[in-house]
Amino acid sequence: MRMPGTSGEPRLTAEHNGEVSYWWRARGGFPARRPSLPGPLTADVCIIGGGFTGLWTAYYLKQARPELQVVVLEAAFAGFGASGRNGGWLTSALPGSRDRYARGPGGRDAVLDMQRQLRATVDEVARVCAAEGIDADLVKGGELAVATSPAQLTRIHEELLADREWGLGEPEVQLLGAGELAARVRVAGGLGALYSPDCARIQPAQLVTGLAAAVERLGVTIYEATPVTRIRPGAGAGARACTVFGDVTAQFVLRATEGFTARLPGQRRTLLPMNSSMIVTEPLSAAAWQQIGWDGRETIGDSAHVYMYAQRTEDGRIAIGGRGIPYRFGSTLDHRGVTQPEAIDTLGHILRRLFPAAAEARIDHAWCGVLGVPRDWCATVTLDRATGLGAAGGYTGHGVAASCLAGHTLADLVAGEPTERTALPWVGHQARSWEPEPLRWTGVHSLYALYRAADHTEDRGSERTSPLARIGDRISGIPH
Ligand SMILES: Cc1cc2nc3c(=O)[nH]c(=O)nc-3n(C[C@H](O)[C@H](O)[C@H](O)COP(=O)(O)OP(=O)(O)OC[C@H]3O[C@@H](n4cnc5c(N)ncnc54)[C@H](O)[C@@H]3O)c2cc1C
Repeated sequence: MRMPGTSGEPRLTAEHNGEVSYWWRARGGFPARRPSLPGPLTADVCIIGGGFTGLWTAYYLKQARPELQVVVLEAAFAGFGASGRNGGWLTSALPGSRDRYARGPGGRDAVLDMQRQLRATVDEVARVCAAEGIDADLVKGGELAVATSPAQLTRIHEELLADREWGLGEPEVQLLGAGELAARVRVAGGLGALYSPDCARIQPAQLVTGLAAAVERLGVTIYEATPVTRIRPGAGAGARACTVFGDVTAQFVLRATEGFTARLPGQRRTLLPMNSSMIVTEPLSAAAWQQIGWDGRETIGDSAHVYMYAQRTEDGRIAIGGRGIPYRFGSTLDHRGVTQPEAIDTLGHILRRLFPAAAEARIDHAWCGVLGVPRDWCATVTLDRATGLGAAGGYTGHGVAASCLAGHTLADLVAGEPTERTALPWVGHQARSWEPEPLRWTGVHSLYALYRAADHTEDRGSERTSPLARIGDRISGIPH
């Protein structure tokens, strides 16, 4: 018997669920596993986590200081985490609240500089891909924030105005009317969109695989299947990353574990592992693509409070993601990306509603992953020379480009040279801890219940943002 789904119709299911992500299956499976740490070791720098943050840090560190011995310890394999599972939006979106960052010593100018550097990072990733021969299916088609209700339309107008007042809206950022949007992509019910050029589509597993290989060519050793069980501070080359195979002792131990951070002793309330789920269709027919358009390969998101994000893949599928079940009690994690049936059903119905031409397409694969959310929703790059410990992360779902800039910044901090990056407002930024359970679980689930109710109200035609969403924003401190 098929269970009823969110719409009362039979629940939509996927052929594959989990297997880390479709992106890995598309590559023909996981890469050959690298060896684990062979035993106790001394290095100059030990990086924990083989995702984008850890790998970009290693990359820029070896570029700046080739003589340093740098090792990466990875619990599973490079790209096992969000870096190999994400929506493939290489976006210049600010990972946090500009007002909050502006309270730092650099003020507004530092925030404007951060936004400028994030824009440049989209091109920097493309540059490194070209230089290192990484085929990440990268197409810089820009980003469309689509409005599918009058309230969403009001919101994108307000966002553009607020950006311009802040001095952030580039002249290339444009408001598109319904006709202009349809000329690019036919999104059912699309009333208009905000177009920003500073975003590229990527294939995440391709990028992370190529980056790991580039880092190895520079002389970094990546040890896989090597979970770090504890991090110990220690001045003067005495910091330690402890594993069952022995400890790595180093001058600097850098944590790059984003959504997985809560599993480390003492870090349970540092970053909330927020869940995000994705589905991908089978390749669509040429006739379906003719109806949809989307020749520019823009990344597409809506402007709902529980928003969706989508890309047209290199092999002619639609990959679409959204919040799903937002958070698991006690910061527990998914098993190899297996997502809940409700998330597949919800995303499947969003896909059918927005792209009716894809309504008959089979859902080929579904998966999920975790991203790191700090209590104030603002990312951090930090290094304490007294303890030898550093960290970067907390990009709140905007980590694909931000992790490159953060890794570069962390490398600068280790190298000890002030650069334009080390003056950015996320350097040394501290957020308070998350509430203990059950408050944490109750808070996040109540927040998303409010946002879902707000979206539901707005879909009935109101031109204003629902007060329910404003209550949610105030409770959570989510920046807009
Ligand atoms: C489904 C989904 C969709 C997303 N879509 C987008 C998007 O389209 N655009 C965007 O900008 N951002 C997106 N994000 C967020 C983005 O992917 C992340 O912010 C970014 O990849 C974080 O990279 P990272 O290296 O910091 O963390 P991760 O990629 O999660 O890497 C952390 C690594 O650390 C390892 N690790 C954890 N604990 C230990 C330990 N104790 N010892 C050793 N290793 C450990 C893990 O195995 C993992 O490989 C999305 C995230 C998800 C989950």
